[in-house]
Amino acid sequence: MAAMGIGRRALLRAGVAAALAPHSGLSVARAQQPEASRNAGHYRFRIGDIRATVVSDGTLSGNPRIYASSAPPDDLGKALGDAFLPLDRFTLNLNTLLLETGGRRILIEAGAAQTMGPNGGRLFANLSAIGVRPEDIDAIVITHTHPDHVGNLRGADGGAAFPRAAVHVPEDDWTFFIRNEPDLSRLPMPEDFRRAFIANIKQSLAPVAKSVVLYTPGSEVLPGVTTIAAGGHTPGMSAILVHSGREQLLITSDAAYSPLLNIDHPWRPGPDLDPEAATRTRKRLFDRAATDRIPVLGFHFPFPGIGNIRITDGGYRWVAAGWRFEG
Ligand SMILES: [Zn+2]
Repeated sequence: MAAMGIGRRALLRAGVAAALAPHSGLSVARAQQPEASRNAGHYRFRIGDIRATVVSDGTLSGNPRIYASSAPPDDLGKALGDAFLPLDRFTLNLNTLLLETGGRRILIEAGAAQTMGPNGGRLFANLSAIGVRPEDIDAIVITHTHPDHVGNLRGADGGAAFPRAAVHVPEDDWTFFIRNEPDLSRLPMPEDFRRAFIANIKQSLAPVAKSVVLYTPGSEVLPGVTTIAAGGHTPGMSAILVHSGREQLLITSDAAYSPLLNIDHPWRPGPDLDPEAATRTRKRLFDRAATDRIPVLGFHFPFPGIGNIRITDGGYRWVAAGWRFEG
């Protein structure tokens, strides 16, 4: 019981830290919870001949309005209440995907580290739990350069955290965020958050600046990994189709943050830089997934984030995949 008490106090401290954190990640202590007390942070499945593993980097959270900015307040409150969720805080997962194929290990997304609060940065422990070291990763495909997708690229010493990995980044995001000073004034964030957000992007990508592989979505960047233009959330965002034989998986990146808020309800994520383009992208990806019955992985969906999208009379419906024990 004593151990439980300590665990509870640690959890409470972490909760208070999360509530007080400016979400810049610059001054936030890491959430302290022994790895052994956590549930599994990985989920294995197959896509044809490809061995796939969702590897969690943890979570981030914020006011639900950020993720459903076009929702009428009463409707949002009802949707959250009906889903037995708190009204003041919404949690997003950080589902990176490890692909093992042709003797290579490819990571889709690098995860957040602590750039978006104290509960990210679990990727390395969760990779270690399945016997994968950072130097075992051959390539990383980034869908867009928001901090929660690139944060782990920078190691504690300021160097590249994945020393052997070729890091693939959409060129339009590199141009917008790295070559220039991005104008994010239309996003619903306070000025200090916006400054930290931009600084986190630049700092996270700095260690790979010399070796980065820039891509324009619309081609097979690695065997079985095809990028699909999905701009709107950021200028260069790419969705990813993983394919092997007849099997496919569509990674929708941040076209949707949440099945509840952005699929079952048609609400727009506030951080979409170009809302009209993002809405067109969302519809195109959802229609393709539904029509071709392609399983979907959402980076921010409840772990492990896999399911299907169905077209309904008025919109779409998320159907979460059941847990499978064979990996
Ligand atoms: Zn994201």
